[in-house]
Amino acid sequence: MPAPWYEGHISRIEKVTAATWRFWVAMPEGQCLDFRAGQFVTMDLPIHERKVKRWRSYSIASPPHQNRELEFCIVRLEGGAASQYFFEEVEVGTPIRFRGPSGKFVLPEPVDRDLVFICTGTGVAPFRSMLTDLHHHRKAHRRIHLIFGTRYAEGILYRDEFEQLLRELPDFRYSVALSREPDLQPETFPFPVRRGYVHPWYLQEYASPRPDIDFYLCGWRNMIDEALDHLSVRLGYEKTQIHFELYG
Ligand SMILES: Cc1cc2nc3c(=O)[nH]c(=O)nc-3n(C[C@H](O)[C@H](O)[C@H](O)COP(=O)(O)OP(=O)(O)OC[C@H]3O[C@@H](n4cnc5c(N)ncnc54)[C@H](O)[C@@H]3O)c2cc1C
Repeated sequence: MPAPWYEGHISRIEKVTAATWRFWVAMPEGQCLDFRAGQFVTMDLPIHERKVKRWRSYSIASPPHQNRELEFCIVRLEGGAASQYFFEEVEVGTPIRFRGPSGKFVLPEPVDRDLVFICTGTGVAPFRSMLTDLHHHRKAHRRIHLIFGTRYAEGILYRDEFEQLLRELPDFRYSVALSREPDLQPETFPFPVRRGYVHPWYLQEYASPRPDIDFYLCGWRNMIDEALDHLSVRLGYEKTQIHFELYG
């Protein structure tokens, strides 16, 4: 049976950069959403007359224990109907009709293997939910390596939180790739940073395939296609070790 529709509303907006904002959606009075970290919802936005052309999916960036107010991290795509709606029309109080949770991009239970999370931009959303969930519930896990890519240092989403996890979450590593930062000074960051894309990080570190490691990829097609090719064709990882959430 398809998940039910909910009528929530925007309860908060934070402008992180010009093109990436955080939006919080409050559940209808007295209701909560049961979901697993990594899942998404589908919103029915007033951007088209035809139903299917109005639907857009967004990963839930907040952890499952915060189930009365859901957070989303959304990037503005030039010429995008939903982008225009979120960045030019939505304000606190705007109703949001959505359905969910959906998706199988979730962690194994128990987490009995090493995990490498690879993402760019707002593709970090499901990993922020997963990591916050593991930390909050002190869930047992093995080594986790988050590899995040964006253009400029100001676009390092949830930077403070991941720095905190570096101090508090055992066996957590965080690596950042900045593709366009003009004057990068890696020594000024408390975590490893390089100029370029995410791919060299895992190509070097996980060059010898192991059966006890899984890769989780999230973001836009270019990054995912390249990572899938590198991991399965070039490095020889099994398809069952690679999980991905494609944004478009
Ligand atoms: C499961 C799932 C989860 C998602 N979660 C998130 C999320 O958490 N945050 C988020 O920001 N988005 C997320 N998305 C993407 C989101 O659903 C929309 O596709 C996105 O917001 C763009 O919608 P739009 O109407 O603005 O753009 P559209 O009208 O659909 O397209 C807008 C423009 O973007 C261009 N475009 C299309 N693909 C790309 C691309 N790969 N790179 C650059 N430009 C492109 C098109 O050519 C077009 O000009 C998710 C998608 C899925 C399937």
